[in-house]
Amino acid sequence: MNNFSYKQAASAKEATASHQGKSEAYIAGGTTLLDLMKANLEEHSLLVDINLLPFRGIEQTKDGLRIGAMERMSDVGEHPLVVQQYPAVSQSLLLAASPQLRNMASIGGNILQRTRCGYFRDAAFPCNKRVPGSGCPAQTGDNHNLAILGVSENCIANAYPGDLAVALAAFDAVLTLENAKGKQRRVPVTEFYLLPGNTPQKETVLEPGELIVAVTLPPAAHTQRSTYLKVRERSSYAYALASAAVGLDVQAGTIRSARVALGGVGAQPWRSREAEKVLTGAPATEATFRAAATAALQGAQPREHNRYKVELAQNTLVRALQTVVG
Ligand SMILES: Cc1cc2nc3c(=O)[nH]c(=O)nc-3n(C[C@H](O)[C@H](O)[C@H](O)COP(=O)(O)OP(=O)(O)OC[C@H]3O[C@@H](n4cnc5c(N)ncnc54)[C@H](O)[C@@H]3O)c2cc1C
Ligand code: SF4
Repeated sequence: MNNFSYKQAASAKEATASHQGKSEAYIAGGTTLLDLMKANLEEHSLLVDINLLPFRGIEQTKDGLRIGAMERMSDVGEHPLVVQQYPAVSQSLLLAASPQLRNMASIGGNILQRTRCGYFRDAAFPCNKRVPGSGCPAQTGDNHNLAILGVSENCIANAYPGDLAVALAAFDAVLTLENAKGKQRRVPVTEFYLLPGNTPQKETVLEPGELIVAVTLPPAAHTQRSTYLKVRERSSYAYALASAAVGLDVQAGTIRSARVALGGVGAQPWRSREAEKVLTGAPATEATFRAAATAALQGAQPREHNRYKVELAQNTLVRALQTVVG
């Protein structure tokens, strides 16, 4: 790990003024940034601590439920407003990592965690995401936990391997970002993550030095009847092999509106408008759920060791939909 300086910022202005480019990084809970630095996958000469910034609070606003980026995963996952209004969001947080990590980790840091692709995490291997143009050994190597949707010949990683952003993508959450000039902009989570294409090193639309201030979840009929189902290799402390965040508004047995996003299978948190199209206006039956699952995975491009994810993701989605309907 390289030597670095440390500075605590008292305001967003002070934080962005200290963050000039790649050699600086913000540190929130530090639960993933320090791992990356210890493995020499990221090198920063200055860490700007943003824990004193007032990006706090979980409050009802006219746009929906606003959650400060510095709120801790455990506090958000257990908050009564989140539990009641967005069960899938609460579950996505409480099924992630471990209690110790959730107590320390922030919402902003969770959204910006990086891929768990083994080749990315081991500097001895080439990796287009780490060193553009060096190659992608995962295409033919160990790809059992990597993505099957939205992948390219340059990268098949789940750029975001976590849980929260999958639920945020399902429910049209919007991020508030702030740059060094104090200017704020709002970006939907579905537009925040970039597909790998020819530039897998570009993972999000966040500009250097830009801060995540908050995330807002708009109100909708389908959010209360929602769930997050996570399938993993063991029941704790593991990333999803496949997951589904779903919300349904069902009236008299007919689905009025539906929201579907998949985790663990997409190069980004995977909102499936194809599945939503099949579900909307259809009877809430197993046959409809199966048809939606087939549509969701239609564009899958599996490699040798992750073919099993097609069926796994389909079954995960069907089970999540059955759970919501009860
Ligand atoms: C063993 C282990 C298991 C895990 N399992 C899961 C899991 O199952 N599901 C899951 O979802 N996650 C999992 N995680 C990831 C965990 O949720 C993240 O480590 C955590 O959410 C990161 O938050 P942090 O505040 O510690 O981020 P930090 O490590 O402080 O920061 C992460 C990145 O975000 C940037 N950053 C942080 N906040 C902001 C902000 N407000 N604005 C701009 N940039 C910012 C930092 O500069 C850094 O680049 C796991 C982690 C570990 C170590
Ligand atoms: S899948 Fe992406 S992250 Fe993994 S080795 Fe290939 S380029 Fe690197």
